[in-house]
Amino acid sequence: RLEVQGLTRRFDGRAVVDDVSFQVEAGQVACLLGPSGCGKSTTLRIVAGVDMQDTGRILVDGQLVCDTQFRIPPEQRAIGLMFQDFALFPHLPVRDNVAFGLAGGWKANRARVAELLERVHMSRHIDSYPHELSGGEQQRVALARALAPRPRVLLMDEPFSGLDERLRDGIRDETLALLKEEGTAVLLVTHEPHEAMRMADQILLMRGGRIVQQGAPYNLYNAPVDRQAAGFFSDIN
Ligand code: ATP
Ligand code: MG
Repeated sequence: RLEVQGLTRRFDGRAVVDDVSFQVEAGQVACLLGPSGCGKSTTLRIVAGVDMQDTGRILVDGQLVCDTQFRIPPEQRAIGLMFQDFALFPHLPVRDNVAFGLAGGWKANRARVAELLERVHMSRHIDSYPHELSGGEQQRVALARALAPRPRVLLMDEPFSGLDERLRDGIRDETLALLKEEGTAVLLVTHEPHEAMRMADQILLMRGGRIVQQGAPYNLYNAPVDRQAAGFFSDIN
């Protein structure tokens, strides 16, 4: 369970993230949805621990992870990452990429690695190198890698944006099924309303650093908070 309370981040005096609060339960997917520059990635980076807030605090499973005085380092947060530019390690085969965050590496974690690769339909590529895989296959391995240490929270920043449009919905559905099985609390950043509608239990609609509306996808679709929000959802089929 992820709790974010009153998070603010200023750059040069401008609040890029402005008093943002929300929570994500274990096994649920929250989508941070909004236009370019609204503060989505900055929010994720603070939760990940690679940037620091000016105010606010973050808790994982009820335990304080950071506030303005106290800060647990990123690698001790039980938070997994799957970012657009967070590529696989090119010099490592798939099995070692997946085992990367596990004590003892692949040899000590064969069963977990095999289980995850089977779940993402990549078992036969266990010895392949990243350059031998398609973009979609690399994404599947990246998902397995992110989930291998059983993080309590998984952060995903536009994880499907590099993929062929025709592949995306299939991979979205497979990813969602696996996330539900693993029971992780997921915070997924996207600027695509369609993706949020398809994957989210809860949408956090963000604009200018603030969350302007939050709720179940059908609530935002049926009762958008204003004209701009309505416009955002109107293209969905
Ligand atoms: P996109 O959909 O384009 O990825 P985003 O919602 O993820 O956008 P952020 O990356 O969070 O947006 O950036 C929000 C705002 O903060 C932008 O105006 C950006 O220029 C600014 N910003 C982000 N990081 C910094 C920084 N290190 N220094 C100054 N300004 C920054
Ligand atoms: Mg971004």
